[in-house]
Amino acid sequence: MTDPEDLVERVREGELRLHELEDHADHDTAAEARRLLLERETGTELEAIGDYAFPAEAAEPNIENMIGAAQVPMGVVGPVPVNGEETAANDGGAAAGDYYLPLATTEGALLASVNRGLGVIRSAGGADARVTKNGMTRAPVFRVAGVAEAAETVEWVDDNTEALAEAAESTTSHGELIDVEPYVVGDSVYLRFAYDTKDAMGMNMATIATGEACEIVERETPADLVALSGNLCSDKKPAAINAVEGRGRSVTADAVIPGELVEDRLHTTAEAIAEANTRKNLTGSAKAGSLGFNAHAANVVAAAFLATGQDEAQVVEAANAITTMDAREREDGTTDLYASVSLASLEVGTVGGGTKLPTQAEALEVLGLRGGGDPPGSNADALAEIIAVGALAGELSLLGALSSRHLASAHEDLGR
Ligand code: NAP
Repeated sequence: MTDPEDLVERVREGELRLHELEDHADHDTAAEARRLLLERETGTELEAIGDYAFPAEAAEPNIENMIGAAQVPMGVVGPVPVNGEETAANDGGAAAGDYYLPLATTEGALLASVNRGLGVIRSAGGADARVTKNGMTRAPVFRVAGVAEAAETVEWVDDNTEALAEAAESTTSHGELIDVEPYVVGDSVYLRFAYDTKDAMGMNMATIATGEACEIVERETPADLVALSGNLCSDKKPAAINAVEGRGRSVTADAVIPGELVEDRLHTTAEAIAEANTRKNLTGSAKAGSLGFNAHAANVVAAAFLATGQDEAQVVEAANAITTMDAREREDGTTDLYASVSLASLEVGTVGGGTKLPTQAEALEVLGLRGGGDPPGSNADALAEIIAVGALAGELSLLGALSSRHLASAHEDLGR
């Protein structure tokens, strides 16, 4: 076995570079050598970072220059009650039943709050959740001479979607091209390709497939590819196109909470929650020029992403949500609360990326959603629906706390 001290020495002498250590030692030894080097260079102790619970080799596709792991506390909320049973009135969702949802965060009070909301939803008979649109996008940008060539390119693309699909789908056994939407700006043409990537979040899959399709576009039209991603995709940047058109899964969860439950458990009324939602999440967000019209959907999305191995930078668009809360009068004169959250661009997968890492794979196992679904795509759909119900619970609980003015005291009681 290679001595990590020997590797450190060779790096110091300039004989090896930090990223080359795996070529000379096993992955754990390479990580140890980097820690030793870092400890000496910076005068730090990396005991906790080095105390990770999976073989470093398992993380090879996910990280370069590994030194250890950032361990974020993980908790669980639930059961998350998702009404996915097929009825005459709906198609049934991919998720159906009660799920324990692992969440990883450093924000105290978050899981307690989500659990409170879930308890209310459970008592109300559960939430409905459905993926209403699905398409992972990649939008290359092409250069043309001017608008005449741009129009020629757009016309060719419109007439030849099948040829593009054939090329794109030749690179994957799961991905299917759904749509190619052209956009023209001066002498730039953007083609927004959207794919059903089944149980994969699909960013690599969509990129590879689009690269293949671009070769035909270049061959058959005057357009020259400038960049495989032209930012109309739009990956990891706040963008209206994702909020409007969706990216990954567009998913909605909703529930009707009887007025008595709102009063008993949230200590407020349906009307007060509806008013807080309108003035805060809708009017306040509009005045702020926000792309998100919700209270804190990002909290649940980010914590679920960390726990289940999603690409955490996609929280930028994945947490884009509109929350609605309405008081609905019943025939007997009492008032129920209709609560919904719609996430436009929830990019999730149960295969590929970080989902294979041992910790995250275990979290997916807890949900019963590890790996590919039957039929393909059903596991990722179910994950999206469960996260949406978790986000709905978070919205309910926080709006309830704000409406009953309990927010500050709840944080004080939990000591943070
Ligand atoms: P991936 O691991 O690259 O691809 C998923 C793989 O799973 C495919 O090879 C697919 O095979 C296979 N697969 C097996 N069963 C499947 C099923 N039931 N449904 C779908 N696929 C199945 O993952 P990805 O989701 O495409 O990309 C995620 C990664 O992309 C993350 O690591 C993320 O950080 C990274 N990323 C990349 C970019 C980029 O621009 N390239 C941007 C952002 C993030 P077949 O394709 O052969 O069918």
